[in-house]
Amino acid sequence: MIYNSQMECMDRSALRQLQTQRLRETLRRVGAVPFYADRLPGNGAAVSVDETDSLPFTTKQDLRDQYPFGLFAVPQRELARVHATSGTRGKPTLVGYTRNDLATWAELCARLLAGAGARPGDTLHVALNYGLFTGGLGIHGGAERLGCMVVPASAGSTHRQLLLMNDLHPAGLKATPSYALHLAEVAEQEGFDPRSFGLRYGIFGAEPWSETVRARLEDRFGFRAYDSYGLSEMLGPGVAWECGHRNGLHLAEDHFLPEIIDPATRRRLPPGEEGELVLTSLTKEAYPLLRFRTGDRTALLPDPCPCGRTHIRIDRIRGRVDEMVIIRGVNLFPTEVERVLLSFPELQPRYQVRLWRDGALDNAEVLVEARRPAEADQAALAHRLKTAIKQELGVSMGVRFASVPDGEGRNKALRVIDERNGVS
Ligand SMILES: [Zn+2]
Repeated sequence: MIYNSQMECMDRSALRQLQTQRLRETLRRVGAVPFYADRLPGNGAAVSVDETDSLPFTTKQDLRDQYPFGLFAVPQRELARVHATSGTRGKPTLVGYTRNDLATWAELCARLLAGAGARPGDTLHVALNYGLFTGGLGIHGGAERLGCMVVPASAGSTHRQLLLMNDLHPAGLKATPSYALHLAEVAEQEGFDPRSFGLRYGIFGAEPWSETVRARLEDRFGFRAYDSYGLSEMLGPGVAWECGHRNGLHLAEDHFLPEIIDPATRRRLPPGEEGELVLTSLTKEAYPLLRFRTGDRTALLPDPCPCGRTHIRIDRIRGRVDEMVIIRGVNLFPTEVERVLLSFPELQPRYQVRLWRDGALDNAEVLVEARRPAEADQAALAHRLKTAIKQELGVSMGVRFASVPDGEGRNKALRVIDERNGVS
């Protein structure tokens, strides 16, 4: 089912025209924001979507510097809601919505759910945090728009979540992939069979995950698992998501303009090349952003999709630009360690990578946890894992058995501790 075929299947030349018109409206709107008014070229009204190079970038640091209302294009009394990002230190980033923005957001989340096979009348179990985090309430609005019954379970209270799924038989689950793995693990311990819940689809986002995790989740729950991508700065969930072909994530191009840049030179890269995703909002009223540097690494996939949607796809997010670590000259994302780790059924699906320096030399070790510590031959397991990491990723890493935090109730698990520059 395509929720809004008029927009989602629009002819691409008409879509480019619509984007140009909406970009110009956005440029007029940000004229009211001193941060942008000072940085915009004089001929902003003439800019087209193919000539955005003259427009300024916006960084996460800019968002923090303008806290709380510096980047808002409407006065506080015209806002319907605010959310805040789960910033790691210091001030959060505050994002805001007018009533129209909330309506746009609900529509985009309805498109996302329909893309994974959700239908009116479905029961949807939402195991994402409700609150300042955009995940829970964002999906909630989309599910209501589509006509689903929502179970607003939020994150945490894992036993109760399993009980509800067992008794209510939802058609769909929306969660972070790490929390879904945790649900499956606890189900096993407490005697639930997740396959008997009757779930048809699971939709996962808010953190990078791998095909191995997809296979594991599908095996445990018996559903089809879909990837989705969103970020609070651009509304929340609903920015990009997989259709039934699961060959990349369609990005809602009638509301967002994507570019891929080389994060070092900030030059635009051609379709197919991997770099940092940059997004410009095209319809947001309260919190419009120009060329926002998302920090997420992906590529644009311009080939047509058999589903009929014409919106461009982005590749699965490979990791965060700032999470990419360089160990003895090798580029590495935590999700790649995860992929290797998950091929070991004896291990829990959680890990932490620790980096430190001895003199000039980088050292790395991965902390892992055995599923059944009493039975595991830890020395032999460690040796096999070390060999697999060296073979598949090209780096040498120590392996240590420890208790690893599982990220329950949090939005993102902390996966890399880099102590090489005195930063932890
Ligand atoms: Zn498609």
